[in-house]
Amino acid sequence: MVIIIPILAHNLKLMEVDLIIYARWIIPVDPESATYENHALVVNNGKILDLLPSEKVEQKYQPTQQENLHNHVLLPGLINSHTHASMTLMRGIADDLPLMDWLQHHIWPLEQKWVSEAFVRDGTDLAIAEMIRGGTTCFNDMYFFPEITAHQAIHHGMRASIGQILIDFPSAWAENSEAYLEKGLALHEQLRHEPLITTPFAPHAPYTVSDEPLIKIRTLADELELPVHMHLHETQHEVQEQQQKTNQTPIQRLQKLGLLTPSFIAVHMTQLTADEIALYAETGAHIVHCPESNLKLASGFCPVNDCLNAGINVALGTDGAASNNDLDMFGEMQTAALLAKGVAGDASALPAMTAIKMATINGAKALGLEDKIGSLSIGKNADVIAIDLDQLETQPLYNPVSQLVYSANRQQVTDVWIAGKQLLKQRQLTTINIDDLKQKISEWQRLLKEN
Ligand SMILES: [Zn+2]
Repeated sequence: MVIIIPILAHNLKLMEVDLIIYARWIIPVDPESATYENHALVVNNGKILDLLPSEKVEQKYQPTQQENLHNHVLLPGLINSHTHASMTLMRGIADDLPLMDWLQHHIWPLEQKWVSEAFVRDGTDLAIAEMIRGGTTCFNDMYFFPEITAHQAIHHGMRASIGQILIDFPSAWAENSEAYLEKGLALHEQLRHEPLITTPFAPHAPYTVSDEPLIKIRTLADELELPVHMHLHETQHEVQEQQQKTNQTPIQRLQKLGLLTPSFIAVHMTQLTADEIALYAETGAHIVHCPESNLKLASGFCPVNDCLNAGINVALGTDGAASNNDLDMFGEMQTAALLAKGVAGDASALPAMTAIKMATINGAKALGLEDKIGSLSIGKNADVIAIDLDQLETQPLYNPVSQLVYSANRQQVTDVWIAGKQLLKQRQLTTINIDDLKQKISEWQRLLKEN
């Protein structure tokens, strides 16, 4: 008698993984033109392990946790490449003013009086809560008390690039540029092994930082391999004033000081000649475009289409909530796409997919984090957001990329993961208590209103 032993399918051992997210669409950003339908993202140890058709998952993986998002699109978490997080507490306190009036007569006096560890802690919590609810998973910050911002980010599981701020003026945090530099370097030393945090240099702007500290920063940035994040050519006034004083534009000055390298991140750049765009492209440095802040302060328009055509990497940021007045990267993508068409006089300028790239992979490149985040690529961190497109406002749905940029809003973000940890679950924050936070914010509102 012959006994036939069948070869059973379950002999093929399934791999145990932490999380599988099934989604109607996945837009990985890399490759650029891909939109996968009915696929799943496999996450293990905080990293993306696989991206495959949904029907093939059960043959390979056994998840501890599973999410079925059948009306949703998965995107890499958005990267807000320029923020002053705790300025959320000054949201709406002084509007409809030009930059220098706004800074000198409203923001700087308020900062002198109120900015403290507690201010930065509570303001950062508000910013992080708002950003997570809006699909942002990483922010590039420049503000006083950066150690507090970093601490809150780590505490809530948020990824952040925390600038070593430097400005020639004294503040509650440091008395002069030497002290800023010393405290910044101590912060870098303290945080260099934190997986969610990086610590670039962040000299404020050409009109607030003198040559000597900039030269030191240049040398240190090379030694420590850190990016340098700085406001640049934000307004015509900034460029003209510097030209009158020194006979050179801020870009020319920074070029002479050796700052314009592939690790330099210039924010705003609303005033650029064709020659400056060509020069800047040659340096390999990055631009962060903040269209809503530029519009609100009437600073001008960054010629984004010309910059992209010249080969410059352009990322996207909101700036602080006092000049925007939100930290909404969906709004920023839409504004960037619309404004670029108006500025270029060309409806094909800055198409929807380019806006998504600016808010994801281009931000990662600018921050020196391209190998870790910015796309849903195997081996990168699982910084992932899910957007529900089954809402009336995003129907009918011919093209998810178009809906995300031109029709969707941040309230359609339902779930957010950073390094595989879920920070937003069906629109509920998992690491921040909203009621406690609101109470703290109303106390700050009372204090700042008294002025
Ligand atoms: Zn700014």
